[in-house]
Amino acid sequence: MSVSKLASSILESPTLRLNEEAAKLRERGEAVIHLGAGEPKNKAPISAILSAAARLNTGDIKYTPTDGISSLKKAIVRYTEENYDKIIGPDNVIVSQGAKQALFNLLYTLVNPQDEVIVFAPYWVSYPEMIKMVYGIPVIVTPEDGTFYPTMKDLEPAVSSYTRAIIVNSPNNPSGVIYPPGFIQQLVEFCEMKGIYLIMDDIYHKLVFDGKTCASAYKFTTKDIELSKVIVINGISKLYGMTGFRIGWTIASRQLVAVMTNVQGQTSTCTSILLQAAAEGALTGLQSAIETLRLTLENNRNVMIQQLRAFNGVKINPPDGTYYCLPDFRAYNKNSVELSNFLLKKALVVTVPGKEFGMEGHLRLSYATTVKDVTQGIERIKWALDPTSPNEIYIGERKLVRDWL
Ligand code: PMP
Repeated sequence: MSVSKLASSILESPTLRLNEEAAKLRERGEAVIHLGAGEPKNKAPISAILSAAARLNTGDIKYTPTDGISSLKKAIVRYTEENYDKIIGPDNVIVSQGAKQALFNLLYTLVNPQDEVIVFAPYWVSYPEMIKMVYGIPVIVTPEDGTFYPTMKDLEPAVSSYTRAIIVNSPNNPSGVIYPPGFIQQLVEFCEMKGIYLIMDDIYHKLVFDGKTCASAYKFTTKDIELSKVIVINGISKLYGMTGFRIGWTIASRQLVAVMTNVQGQTSTCTSILLQAAAEGALTGLQSAIETLRLTLENNRNVMIQQLRAFNGVKINPPDGTYYCLPDFRAYNKNSVELSNFLLKKALVVTVPGKEFGMEGHLRLSYATTVKDVTQGIERIKWALDPTSPNEIYIGERKLVRDWL
């Protein structure tokens, strides 16, 4: 088979691969615990379901404008005003198939071949691959002090005349940390001074814990949206637990949205009107769905952290938000791929190797599941790694046998 050099260089999404592996094991009847998932267990908000059902009942399911139906765009304008205190117009919004397609279209629109895009480690697995897919060069900046908090001192040596954009994801997948407002302010000022785009992937921005908030980059720009370098990506997947509805959006200058619309028009025409109707229902309905999900996640996070703190050798930086935490397992194995495979095989627990996020020696554990799965999942990991645990345990009839790494 002959495929393009570029396509053959793109890595498989490890999180999607693990989802498939877990599903296959479950089909075979294995009692797999999935601590790898990037989606919660909730049902979609009723307002979203009713809105999509009403549209379906009309039987009038056709193409929409490429950048989205105007009622959804208006709902996004309102969401931006209410949650970001930022006044924008519908021409500053383009709706895409999830934040993933929004990011890809944006990078395609911004990046020339060999342009560099800076990404902070730990990073969401798709950023480097997407940058490569538009012939750009991902430049990874890893905090020097071993924390998950990058600083301007880490960033500045990585900036060159080829730097086109910086991607920021806070609260962060996979670490769960919120970057301090002072750092966001420095980034905004730096990018606006240097003419570098600052892409804020805000997909988890309201899923934050302990009364913390996530600073909006808009707060620190004095420039009008038409001139500012700040671009915001958001969507319904994570906030409302509506991952399968595939709706995300970009907020940028009118000029940039117009070019992104041409790109999207030539690749996917538009997102489905049914799913746009669902997103509109979610955004305009009762917002308690977000708070319910947030509370569930905070509770699950507390359970997971409590268990991990009692786990000898595991170092944990408690997450401030998202669905995830990224404990350091180097005391057990420095190779996270090996460790993750071992845990899947021996303990039937899905974890995602930190290597995939640019943080070797760590595992990403998701608490976007049930408390029971969080508790039993960590117990099984402990059993598999602790040399003093019994060699065999039973899960129902199924015997798990532990041997050494
Ligand atoms: N950005 C981040 C940081 C994510 O974690 C994800 C989903 N895992 C996305 C973007 C993509 O979200 P969507 O489902 O809207 O495509």
